[in-house]
Amino acid sequence: MVSTGDVIQLLPDHVANQIAAGEVVQRPASVVKELIENAVDAGATEIDLIVKDAGRTLVQVVDNGLGMSVTDLRLAFERHATSKIRTTEDIFHIQTKGFRGEALASIAAVAQVDAVSRKEEEELGNRLVIEGGTVRDQIPAATPRGTSISVKNLFFNVPARRNFLKSNQVELRHIQEEFLRVAMAHEQINFRFYHNDSEVYILKSGNLRQRIVQIFGRKMDAQLVPIAEETDVVKISGFVGKPESAKKQRGEQYFFVNQRFIKSNYLHKAIIDAFENLLPNQYVPSYFLNLEIDPTKIDINIHPTKTEIKFEDEYSIYAVLRSAVKHALGQFNIMPSLDFDQNPDWAFIPSKPQNKTIKTPEIRVDRSYNPFETNPTQKEIRPVQDFYQSFSEFEIENKHPEALLSQEEFEIGEFQVLQWMNKYLITQHKGELLIIDQNRAHQTVLFQNLSRSARENALSQRLLFPIEIPSNESEISMLKTIEMDLVNFGFDVEFVKDRILVNALPTDVDSEEIPGIFSDFLHDLEWHDKVDFKVEISKIIAKNSAIKKGEILLPEQARHLAQQLLQLDEPNFSPYGKPVFVQIPENEITKKLN
Ligand code: ADP
Ligand code: MG
Repeated sequence: MVSTGDVIQLLPDHVANQIAAGEVVQRPASVVKELIENAVDAGATEIDLIVKDAGRTLVQVVDNGLGMSVTDLRLAFERHATSKIRTTEDIFHIQTKGFRGEALASIAAVAQVDAVSRKEEEELGNRLVIEGGTVRDQIPAATPRGTSISVKNLFFNVPARRNFLKSNQVELRHIQEEFLRVAMAHEQINFRFYHNDSEVYILKSGNLRQRIVQIFGRKMDAQLVPIAEETDVVKISGFVGKPESAKKQRGEQYFFVNQRFIKSNYLHKAIIDAFENLLPNQYVPSYFLNLEIDPTKIDINIHPTKTEIKFEDEYSIYAVLRSAVKHALGQFNIMPSLDFDQNPDWAFIPSKPQNKTIKTPEIRVDRSYNPFETNPTQKEIRPVQDFYQSFSEFEIENKHPEALLSQEEFEIGEFQVLQWMNKYLITQHKGELLIIDQNRAHQTVLFQNLSRSARENALSQRLLFPIEIPSNESEISMLKTIEMDLVNFGFDVEFVKDRILVNALPTDVDSEEIPGIFSDFLHDLEWHDKVDFKVEISKIIAKNSAIKKGEILLPEQARHLAQQLLQLDEPNFSPYGKPVFVQIPENEITKKLN
């Protein structure tokens, strides 16, 4: 291309705002979040959220907060216009939700906005109408104290983004989640949420426990264990759910830092760690925890819509949180076997067998315990040599003594398979070394078999006693939409008022996996649009029923799995698109040996 002179231009404001809007306004739920947060920042004690068509046609937030003067109302919709900070220094002392001053400008760039506001001391309020970033009207208006902002026809001028929105059900889920995150952090505020003229939540001001119960239902009340801890770095308050209320699916996990919802895998681990041995594998406890931290010791300034934050003293917070939760669980007599005044390490030193010398253990084997055992605290780790020494006394209780020998190479039929690190299968195939991920391999085998058998009407096993899954109305109505698919897979389900009864299962599904499988069905139905749910059902069953990482396989099991995998037409990728194995040709190895 031939250059013909200067080509750089400044973007007009409305274009710049539309681009910025791409960051801030991803879907109706983003508008909900920004408007409610502004209402909280304005000191409102009453906040109403009114939504139509999952936010496509209307998101309106009405508050009784400070209100805005006529100039402020106009300035509020300019980019980088904020009343919340003045200098960069202020960013380090943020007490409000907002501070970037971009939300309203971004929203107004991609919607039709009607804003009305009045300050307490003014008799008459003002109204401002903006469309696609252009002011259409500004007039005085009679209105109660506070602010009402209506955002209509979101993305009316950006069809590509409008088409990108998911089904109403999915968008509404996101709206609900944003609403709850703010409502839970501000239990002193009265919140009301209406969708298409019906009430979704009416939350009266109260304490955190009352708010949680109002949101998640009466039965939650008995499940809450209070947490309270204060140190120099952090003050922690809130609740964790008792172990028996834990679920296989993430859901009711809420961290708030200075009343702002955040996500933190690191702090999540602290809680899981505190529940050690109290929960079966993969079960997640619910928690609702407020952390108060000196704002200068955190950095929330990463990205306008990101919920991650950085802590200066992450490690201490982890430690305090873990011990606070552990302590609370202990106090509530949930961990009767542990005495916290003792050295915690002491309890785990294996008792020395009499008349036997114990050699230094070389390999430690985790006998993969059954997560559905009634007493998961009995999970045990034993040194291998110790195990051999006491083989005879131990044999009776150990269900798979042979499994511990699986590190040996073995040979059955035409090919050898070796299990390595309890998670890989090593074998050779057409002159190449194959390292197979056992979990993904089994998922792939199950998935492809299930997809086939569902087409041919699967075999089903009837249960003597049906499995009961407690459910609410909306869960039942969601599952009803895939009832025929479930039948084709070999399920027989019955819907009772507050329960789902599973009377029959596909033959290759273990009844113990049913709660996990159904919880995954519901999660997917809630959060994703599915044209064809059959594929999803196969994926979910495969994921839940597959051999896990860390599971020790009998030699025949390992060989059978590798063989099944290698006989598939498409063995390369798991149903979730992950590679199943690594192939190393011999010449690569020869090269390395040079
Ligand atoms: P930020 O919240 O980051 O300051 P916004 O674009 O969300 O940026 O809002 C801009 C300004 O408009 C706020 O700083 C505040 O002064 C004013 N404002 C917005 N919403 C309200 C409201 N509901 N009540 C009173 N003032 C508001
Ligand atoms: Mg804001």
